[in-house]
Formats: sequence, C-alpha cells, structure tokens
Amino acid sequence: MRAVVYQEPYDVAVEDVEDARIEDPTDVVIKVTTSAICGSDLHMYEGRTGAEPGIVFGHENMGVVQETGPGVAGIREGDRVVLPFNVACGFCRNCLAGNTGFCLTVNKGFAGGAYGYVSMGPYRGGQAEYLRVPFADFNCLKLPPGDEHEDDFALLADIFPTGYHATELARVSPGETVCVFGAGPVGLMAAYSAQLRGASRVFVVDRQPDRLRLAERIGAVPVDFGQGDAAEQIKEQTGGEGTDKGIDAVGYQATAREGEEQPAIVLNALVEAVRPTGMLGVVGLYVPEDPGGPSEHAQKGELLFRIGKFFEKGLRMATGQANVKAYNRQLRDLIIAGRAEPGFVVSHRLPLEDAPDAYRRFDRREDGWTKVLLKPGR
Ligand code: NAD
Ligand code: ZN
Repeated sequence: MRAVVYQEPYDVAVEDVEDARIEDPTDVVIKVTTSAICGSDLHMYEGRTGAEPGIVFGHENMGVVQETGPGVAGIREGDRVVLPFNVACGFCRNCLAGNTGFCLTVNKGFAGGAYGYVSMGPYRGGQAEYLRVPFADFNCLKLPPGDEHEDDFALLADIFPTGYHATELARVSPGETVCVFGAGPVGLMAAYSAQLRGASRVFVVDRQPDRLRLAERIGAVPVDFGQGDAAEQIKEQTGGEGTDKGIDAVGYQATAREGEEQPAIVLNALVEAVRPTGMLGVVGLYVPEDPGGPSEHAQKGELLFRIGKFFEKGLRMATGQANVKAYNRQLRDLIIAGRAEPGFVVSHRLPLEDAPDAYRRFDRREDGWTKVLLKPGR
C-alpha cells in the first residue's frame, strides 16, 4: 500500500510499504478516507524529535472498517469510524479515569500512545491507504454512514477535541473572557470551543493575517502580536484587568516579535494577559528535549518560565495531551445536530501523492494553508 514515509528533516515521500493487517484479535483494519496533517507532525518533519527515517506519519485518521479481528465485538466491516489520535487500551487505571491520553498499557515508560508518532509507541500512522487500529472496540467512534460532514468529522481525531480540552483545562464557563495564543488549527478550535461553552469574548493572538481573519470570521477578536505586545493589547481591551482564562495553543516553538529575545515564551505572555486568580490551559506542546532548538537551553527543553509573577497573581495552570475520547462523542453529536461546524479551518483536501508538497507549504505556513486533509485512494 502507499504511505507517507519520513525520510529526513524537511523531506517526506510517498512510498510502497507493507500492508496494514490484523496483528491482535482486538484489532480492526480501516480503509483510510481522510488523514490530516497536524502541527504536531511538523515537530518530526523539522527534525526536532530525533525521529528515525521510515516512520509512517498520520495520527488524525478516519475511514471505513475493512476487516475485524476475532476479538472485536461492537465494530463491523463497513462501519464508518474516526479514531482518537491517542491509542488507548480502555482498561488501565488512567483509561478508566477518562485520561486516555495517558494510557499505561500501550506505551510502557511513556505517557500515552499515538499513531505515527516518535516515542508514542509502535503504531503506524494513517497517511496511508490502510491503518491497523488496536483495541478497536474502545478506540473507534462510529459515524453515520455515507460521506456527509467528512471534514467536520475528520477533525474529531485530534484538533476539535484538543481545542475543547484546552477550554476544559482552563475551566471556561459561560460569560467569561478568554485569550487564546496561537491561531493555528488548534488555537482556532480552542477559540471555537470557548464560544460553544458560552464565553462572552474571545481574543485570538497570532501574526499570520490569514489565520487572524479566520478567528475574526467566527466572532473572536484578533490580536496581532506583530503590532505590539499581545498581553498589553488584551489588557487595554479588558479594562486593564486581563481575561478570565487563557489558552496556550503554540507551545515551545513560539516565535518572538522582531527585536525580542529568543525564544519567546507564550506562557509568560499568558501570565500577563490573564487576570489575577485566572486559569491557564496549555495544549501547545512542550518537549523534554529539542535537538533543533535555537539555544543550548532550548535544546535541553529548558525555557524560562517566570513563576514569580504566576504565584503573585494566584494563577492556576493545567497541561497535557488531549484525552480525545472524553469529548469526541459529544462533539460528534453537536456536528450531527448542526450546532458545530469545525470544518471551517480546512483549507485543502489533497490526494496522498501530494503529501510532500503539502508538508512543505504547511510547514512554511504559506498564506491560506491552515489545515490539510489527505485523501488516500483519491
Ligand atoms: P501551528 O504551528 O499550525 O500553529 C501555531 C500558531 O502559533 C501559528 O499560527 C503561529 O503563527 C502562532 N504563533 C507562533 N508564535 C506565537 C506567539 N509568540 N504568540 C502567538 N502565536 C504564535 O500548530 P497547530 O496544529 O495549531 O498546533 C499548535 C500546538 O498544539 C502545537 O504545539 C501542537 O504540537 C500542539 N498540539 C497539542 C495537542 C495535545 O493533545 N495537547 C494536540 C494537537 C496539537
Ligand atoms: Zn494532531
């Protein structure tokens, strides 16, 4: 089968690889209809993770069940399903508590598993014609048959639940004000989720005009950090207090404004932008090591978080991988009911063979390249 295979930094190729097959009785194999490219794939693509050549990328997967293992009870051939990017067992202590992003079974010694991701277990990615899905009864979320809402449903694998998770980590409540740093797909989904939860005003910080325009389109207030300190701009618009809640959808790869010290640390900006006793939800990725980092400290994954101000303001913070399964059914049903259309972030739907060019352009954040869906078999 054809698959997107990592070659070396800034290079992926579409190659023939061994077919996906049932390996355990609880597996299914799906024929992939959509697999999206994620900002998280770019960490590997840019050579920041020490990923070995040969990894098949793709953790945002949906498709139609092709074959089921003998131990699968609730999923049948022909079912249309979307898979959380987390591979989870469903029976370990963390899964039982709903923390499926931190499954203790699938990837011993590391918190949680994922498809096609370095250090997150042996699971091959879905930017391919077929995908093996472990613990299928637990991991498959069934979708209505047909091809309706394909874009919206595809985003249930990661970024819509991840954006929602950010608002859950920050405990966004009706009537609150929220600032979201990062207008990438994850930040836009966090802003959209904050609105679904009844936030009164949502500020979205970035400096990419096309992404800020999308934020504005869903009714958020765009804040261009290229035009001046973002926290100051937000405070000016909230009576000097800052917002009730704040979300980091950027992570360790934040870029600084021109003339500012490197690397920029979004967490420090959030501490400034959120009012005393507010709460921060952090879904932007921070890594223990960043071999491609700009400084010795960055390479060791050490960033200067100014905890003094954080303490002084009595802020709280929650972090981590999204537990996609905690929200994906509810978010699916909002889509079915016509109450959510996360697909507004999708900019491109491309055949698998176009992946090398799509990775290049998405990595450069070319104008209008917000979210790319790869369509194997098209
Ligand atoms: P992305 O790279 O497309 O978006 C990041 C955005 O942040 C870009 O638009 C960029 O211009 C902007 N940005 C850079 N520096 C900034 C700064 N100083 N202030 C404000 N904005 C700034 O990536 P994405 O797909 O939206 O993902 C965002 C982050 O979320 C990544 O770190 C990704 O790995 C992570 N992620 C986490 C989870 C999870 O489960 N926690 C899941 C998916 C993605
Ligand atoms: Zn992702």
